[in-house]
Amino acid sequence: MNNAISSMPDENLYNLCKEYGERARIWRQRFAGLLPEVFKRKLYERKGFCSIFEFAKKLAGMSEEQVRLVLNLEKRFEEMPRLKSLLTDGKVSVNKLARIVSIAKRENEIFLVNQVQILSKSAVETLVRDEKFAKKYEGQDGLQESFFGSESLPGQTLNLSAEVSRKLLELQQKGIDINDLLIEFLKKREEEIAQKKEEISKEIIENQEEKPTTRHIPISIKRIIYAEHGTKCSIKTCQKPSAQIHHVQRFSAVPSHDPHNLTPLCKEHHELMHCRDLDYVEIRKRI
Ligand SMILES: [Zn+2]
Ligand SMILES: [Zn+2]
Repeated sequence: MNNAISSMPDENLYNLCKEYGERARIWRQRFAGLLPEVFKRKLYERKGFCSIFEFAKKLAGMSEEQVRLVLNLEKRFEEMPRLKSLLTDGKVSVNKLARIVSIAKRENEIFLVNQVQILSKSAVETLVRDEKFAKKYEGQDGLQESFFGSESLPGQTLNLSAEVSRKLLELQQKGIDINDLLIEFLKKREEEIAQKKEEISKEIIENQEEKPTTRHIPISIKRIIYAEHGTKCSIKTCQKPSAQIHHVQRFSAVPSHDPHNLTPLCKEHHELMHCRDLDYVEIRKRI
C-alpha cells in the first residue's frame, strides 16, 4: 500500500486526498448528529466517559466548542422538526446550520431546509445577511427598491481626484452651477445606456428566428451591462465584484440575451437567485 502511494502520480494522490477528505467530512457530520441523543440518554456516563465533551473528543476528535454548538442548535430547532432532522441525520454541516439559526422560524423552515442543503457556505451567509436586511425594512414600501435601486450605500464617500476637484471649483468660482452640470451629465449617460439597450433589444426582436443556442453573452452586450452597472454585484446591499451576468428570466425558458433581461451578480447572489427557483432546486437535489 505504502509503495503504491509513494509511486502514485500527484494528480491521483490529490484526488485520493479529496475523496477521503469528503468522506471524513460526511462521517463527522453524521457523528455530530448523534450527540443530542447520546446527551439525552447520558450514554457517555454509562460508557465510562466523564462528560459528553470527553466522549466526542475521544471517539471523533471533536472540539468542546463544536459539541456545544450541536447541542445548542438542537435546542434552537426544537419547534422546527425538519431543520432539526437535518442536524440529527447529519445531512448538513453544523457550521452551516449555525449560520441560519438567527433567521430560522416556523414560517420559513421549509424554504431554509431546501436552501441550506444546496447552497454553499458563503451563499448561506449572503442569504442570512439579506434576510436580516429585509427584516429591518419589513412592512416598508419599496423593499424591492432598496435591494435593487440605485440609492447610494450609507458610509460611502466620493473619491474625487485633486484634478477633478480643482476643475469643479474653478467652474463654481465662475458662477456655474456644478450640480446642474453634473446632473445633466448623469442624465445623458443614463439616456445613452437606455438607448443602446433599446437598440440591442430591437435588433434581437427583429432577428427572433435566430435564437441564441448558448448562454454565452456576446461581448457587445456585456459591454453595455458593465457600462450600466460597473464592476460590482447589482444587488444594492452588496459590494462584492460581479462574477456572472445573470439572465433574470431563466435562459432555458427565455433563450435571449436581451440586455433588459441581464444583470451582473456576485458568485453568492448568483447562486441564491438560481436556488430560489424551485425547479432548479429539484434538479440539483436529483444530481
Ligand atoms: Zn444566472
Ligand atoms: Zn452580491
